[in-house]
Amino acid sequence: MQKDEILPLLALLRESFERGLTRDHSWRRSRLQALEAFLVEREEEIATAVHDDFRKSRAETFLTETGYLRSEIRFALKHLGSWMKPRRVSIPLIYQPGDGWYASEPYGVVLIIGAWNYPLQLCLAPLISAIAAGNCAVVKPSEQAPHTSALLAEGLSHYLDRNAIAVIEGGVDVSRTLLEERFDYIFFTGSRATGCEVMHAAARHLTPLTLELGGKCPCIVDLEGDVRVAARRIVWAKFLNGGQTCVAPDYVLVHRKREQELIGYMQQAITCFYGDDPRLSPDYPRIVNDHNFMRLEGILADSSFRKGGKTDPGERYIAPTILHDVTLDSVIMQSEIFGPLLPVIAYEDLDEVFDTLRKGNEPLALYLFSSDRNVQERVVRQTRSGGVCINDLLFHAAIHSLPFGGLGSSGFGAYHGRAGFETFSFQRSVLRRSLCPDPDLRYPPYGKKKLSILKRLVTLFH
Ligand code: NAD
Repeated sequence: MQKDEILPLLALLRESFERGLTRDHSWRRSRLQALEAFLVEREEEIATAVHDDFRKSRAETFLTETGYLRSEIRFALKHLGSWMKPRRVSIPLIYQPGDGWYASEPYGVVLIIGAWNYPLQLCLAPLISAIAAGNCAVVKPSEQAPHTSALLAEGLSHYLDRNAIAVIEGGVDVSRTLLEERFDYIFFTGSRATGCEVMHAAARHLTPLTLELGGKCPCIVDLEGDVRVAARRIVWAKFLNGGQTCVAPDYVLVHRKREQELIGYMQQAITCFYGDDPRLSPDYPRIVNDHNFMRLEGILADSSFRKGGKTDPGERYIAPTILHDVTLDSVIMQSEIFGPLLPVIAYEDLDEVFDTLRKGNEPLALYLFSSDRNVQERVVRQTRSGGVCINDLLFHAAIHSLPFGGLGSSGFGAYHGRAGFETFSFQRSVLRRSLCPDPDLRYPPYGKKKLSILKRLVTLFH
């Protein structure tokens, strides 16, 4: 879409917001219900589009896209009334008579830029929050998932209010054109490098924003606990979506005494989930584009692996692969992997792990497998990350009442459930006072006596 088509669209959304179209509880409710209808009625088409983009299975699409979004909508519908309620506050005696409250108000016209790896969820989960908070929204899906992007644009135009919600398709050029305009909030999901550009563009208009970025999420497997279960869960979380998940375990740090056992169970789990030849498994996705395929092949060429390692450029297939002989200086440990390669590094004691993690950037998620409560507490206390999940992976991002977001280089701001509603709202405070009494005390001239009374009043009654 060109600039001369984008500008009238933005003007239409702004006009809708200014005349209050999106503010009422009933509008927000009905639009959320319409979004749910889209997900239910078009479920088959959605599954096909996502499959066409990177061969993701129908079951995975239900679990991580449509199913998740439907429950996020139901959660928002259930709590919307209470989220929207103004909150009364108590007023100090010195300001009586009067009453005060604050309420969540929509920002206005917001921009949501999505990444390709969960092409529906990363556009629609923020949209659910934006609608719940009463905003108009422009959604820019990723051009790297073109089938899903086209379906979103066509589908949502039938289900949602075109005066309030627009899907604008396109690549970097469209994204940049949009960012030249003033939005009231920007919600971006994607890489760190693009996040920097988006923040720069937002600064020109002083637009507040959320950045949902990636990074290297560590998974620690300590001494105590069932290593077989840990292995199955790690393999599931890593190779879901072909390893192209922002909260996938990027690498495993395992206690040296459990290393061989863990690797053995992980090898078993890969065969059990995807068969002897994962290329034939209907549940195993492909790499999204040639650029990422070649990047991952380059890392593989540089590594020694225990399991996997097979590739097929024609299909952009990379087998689920466990890498060993990896050190913290290896090429694979220098940036987010974002593919089905899992390095395993052994450690002797937890302090070594803390040192390693302190040297890196703050990850979006941190995982720990240990049944020892002391170890669990130490890890939570002595590390930093956007979120933590103990004895499992990914699910902390699926619980609607847990805010989801990054820290430092993995981004800032949070969403899901109430956190999403608050992200797309600002808190507007209101103080209402009575016109009487109107004592002279607050007005000049302030002599010594007045000042001393004021001091006493402020200290006693504030
Ligand atoms: P990307 O940054 O290349 O693209 C994301 C979006 O930004 C796309 O819509 C794209 O069109 C747009 N874009 C790209 N370059 C741009 C530019 N220069 N200016 C303005 N817009 C631009 O990211 P990607 O490859 O789609 O996604 C992968 C990254 O996203 C990984 O790092 C991953 O960890 C991260 N991610 C984070 C989360 C999260 O929730 N924190 C979720 C999914 C993915």
